[in-house]
Amino acid sequence: MPGRALDRRHHSVTTTSLAEATTSGQWAALAACTGHDTNLWFPEDHDQPTDDARAEALSICATCPVRAACLDAALDEEGGIKPASRNGIRGGMTREQRHNAYRSRARAARKAAAQAA
Ligand code: SF4
Repeated sequence: MPGRALDRRHHSVTTTSLAEATTSGQWAALAACTGHDTNLWFPEDHDQPTDDARAEALSICATCPVRAACLDAALDEEGGIKPASRNGIRGGMTREQRHNAYRSRARAARKAAAQAA
């Protein structure tokens, strides 16, 4: 069926572009937040988004094809800092969620290192 073949080809191109963008560090070019009001993620006049802004930002992040790469970058950049020192929404997570994700990732890495030793 021509339509199905076209869909499959489109999916293949999209997947390849995503993989290339992620490995080359150019993932931001595919961000779902592009063109939206950045105040939803990083408000200029507050530390953190309002409840409404946060909900809207998270709903956009939920559709983002590069969410994993965005979250990885945030966790790498922010490291183990406290939630209060983290700003806005990144990788589809609030600052508290990123703090917990960082701690979980660090725990898993320590466990894997201990098992490998
Ligand atoms: S996960 Fe959210 S903040 Fe990160 S690039 Fe995608 S839409 Fe933007």
